[in-house]
Amino acid sequence: MKSERVDLSLPPPADILPDVIRQVGYPSPDDLKEDMLGEVERAIRDGLEIVRPDSLYRTTPFLRLEKDLLVGEGVEVRSQRWVHLMKRLRDPEVICCFVVTTGLALEEAINDMQGKSLFDAYLLDAVGSVVIERLTDQMERHVSGLLGAEGYQTTARFSPGYCDWDLSEGQEELFRFLSPESVGVKRTSAGMMIPQKSISATLVGAREVSLRSPCPFCSKGDCPYRREREERGPSHG
Ligand code: SF4
Repeated sequence: MKSERVDLSLPPPADILPDVIRQVGYPSPDDLKEDMLGEVERAIRDGLEIVRPDSLYRTTPFLRLEKDLLVGEGVEVRSQRWVHLMKRLRDPEVICCFVVTTGLALEEAINDMQGKSLFDAYLLDAVGSVVIERLTDQMERHVSGLLGAEGYQTTARFSPGYCDWDLSEGQEELFRFLSPESVGVKRTSAGMMIPQKSISATLVGAREVSLRSPCPFCSKGDCPYRREREERGPSHG
């Protein structure tokens, strides 16, 4: 299957305000003085005007598991932890890879702003971090919905650089499979993406997914990315 774009919608400003405030370093809106709150709200308005979301996904048949490798048609994911998860799924049949970006204009605006006001650049960067997560959540729901319509349940998404999936190798694999350069996303040899506010990820569709991530049986206690036990919920198809 060839890669497809998805139209993603920007979140309403009020919706992301609490997350941006947390991203900036305050526990809640109540901890901000009024003028600071005004600055954050302005940064959100400015940021949302600049963001140009774009995205691409591609699905492919899952073929087999090897020792530490999920093998799909045209793409491989090297992760022992996700191999363990795969063994607990009933009939995994599809791998879906995707990339989401906030676009280059936001990156340029943050860089420009650094020459004028580090504080404003910091706020704009925080807005970008929150928006890219929201857009990626939207993308994950979209592809999970598409797979759900075909009778699949889906795992959580996972990205190169997380768990035990090597960042550079994983990005190289996803970029070769997806060619996200067509939506303006490039990668460095170290695996970073340009624009930086971009996320690449993979998820798996199976006939039954009783556990959405390998975290519950992972012994890495101090992992900052640990997800709570995610049983399947009704919203995931
Ligand atoms: S706890 Fe961390 S390393 Fe372990 S499976 Fe979860 S995300 Fe991966």
